[in-house]
Amino acid sequence: MTVMPRLAIEGGRPVRAAMLPYGRHWVDEADIDAVVAVLRSDWLTTGPTVEEFEAAFAKAVGARHATAVSSGTAALHAAAFAAGIGPGQEVITTPMTFAATANCVRYLGGTVAFADVLPDTLNLDPAKAAACVTARTKAVITVDYTGEPSDLDELEALSARHGLTLIEDASHALGATYRSRAVGSVARLTTFSLHPVKHITTGEGGVVTTDDPDLAARLRRFRNHGITREHQQRVDWRYEMVDLGYNYRLSDIQSALGISQLKRLQEQIARRREIAVRYARAFAGLAEIEALVTRDDRESAWHLYVIRLRLERLRVERAEIYRALRAENIGVNVHYIPVPWHPYYESLGFRRGGWPVAEGAYERILSLPIFPTMTDADVDDVVRAVEKVVGHFRR
Ligand SMILES: *Cc1c(COP(=O)(O)O)cnc(C)c1O
Repeated sequence: MTVMPRLAIEGGRPVRAAMLPYGRHWVDEADIDAVVAVLRSDWLTTGPTVEEFEAAFAKAVGARHATAVSSGTAALHAAAFAAGIGPGQEVITTPMTFAATANCVRYLGGTVAFADVLPDTLNLDPAKAAACVTARTKAVITVDYTGEPSDLDELEALSARHGLTLIEDASHALGATYRSRAVGSVARLTTFSLHPVKHITTGEGGVVTTDDPDLAARLRRFRNHGITREHQQRVDWRYEMVDLGYNYRLSDIQSALGISQLKRLQEQIARRREIAVRYARAFAGLAEIEALVTRDDRESAWHLYVIRLRLERLRVERAEIYRALRAENIGVNVHYIPVPWHPYYESLGFRRGGWPVAEGAYERILSLPIFPTMTDADVDDVVRAVEKVVGHFRR
């Protein structure tokens, strides 16, 4: 009989000496040189590098227009604005996301309706979304949870049937494909985040892509106070502010980093996929955990690697497994607390229990570390720690 090693949480030796985070940016010397070159140039913001970044980004995702903004949240706000969201209108979204996905509707005075998710991918369930449509519904915001594209054709068909705008929050899904189409070229509006934990980073940043030139024009105005012409395009001092916009501009400094980072996107996705495959193989025989399903007609961008605990096979709840893995120096995380559970949304009248699939999944999920500079040895540490902790708490 093998002796089980003592858990770090009980005073044993942790699997690793130093904490492995769940995600981490990847900045190389070429990135640094690109940023320095802009610092020596004439434009620090809203100059040629922003346009160059937008063109490269649009090309990478097969979209006609890309508008760079200051964050993924600003991208959502701009997309919701471009879609015409306002007071009295409803927008359907998923509870299994970061709060910003729903908050953008609230910024514009709109009403959020949360529709439950599919049990296998935890992406927005098109049938549940359809059941939430009312005469006031104006848009659907779906999220490609973990990087696995949503059921975009079904959601697009639903949107077409009711005259809604489909917005895809692809903060997890840069580089993913859906039925051979790149994410960013499928929905009417697609938003991305360039936060350091995401696929490519500009420190803080975001992008909205669309094929529609009118939507693109609205997005551009919105990020610059609602002003019709950007500074370098002016012929004289005159300009017009036609919408109540914001300063959501991305700088040339950040755009230089974005251009350089974008060159490694495919390499980054390939490494994430390798790590996901390694986890899937290692956990195939571990009955206490269950991976999310990925569909054959789409390729995930693997922003997150989420496992679900089979709690009926364990002696403890998720919180105990989380703490035990953290003690082993594995930086596990939970994505996400259902958005309607947050006190702000409770204050709007949302009550727990309305989204049994998302809420049931929430009790069982853990995000394992996955990022492109993770080594195979790091992946093996995670596997050993999961086996050790799950083995200890096995029923
Ligand atoms: C990261 C993220 C956002 C927000 O992006 P920021 O760049 O941090 O503002 C929105 N939605 C989802 C699903 C995200 O993961």
